[in-house]
Amino acid sequence: MMFHDNVFAGIGIFFGLFLIAVGIAIYFIPSFIAFSRKDRNAVAILVLNLFLGWSLLGWLGSLIWALLDEKQGPTPLTPYPCHPYAGAPNNPSVPRASLPPGQFCPNCGQAVAASDQFCGHCGRPMR
Ligand SMILES: [Zn+2]
Repeated sequence: MMFHDNVFAGIGIFFGLFLIAVGIAIYFIPSFIAFSRKDRNAVAILVLNLFLGWSLLGWLGSLIWALLDEKQGPTPLTPYPCHPYAGAPNNPSVPRASLPPGQFCPNCGQAVAASDQFCGHCGRPMR
């Protein structure tokens, strides 16, 4: 009997820890979303999540905040995030000299041949 009692107690502890882990994981879903999206407000969302997440309103607020910020688009320094030279003219971290002249479309930032009349990606006239 003692053996079975210990086994059931062990199963109980296991499921208890499992439920706690699941609860913590669900509790911090808004923070996971914010950090996985490299949200600029990720730390603020984590703080809101941590201190007000116990209330449904605080948890929903941090979750909505984490989801909403995604829709604000790229940061001002990278207006064309699809290209490695994206936003180079306005981005101080990319030296202007590193851009071969006429090799990249000024509209979409994609590489184009210097002899091209139109950008092959967005159709913008090159000259
Ligand atoms: Zn283009």
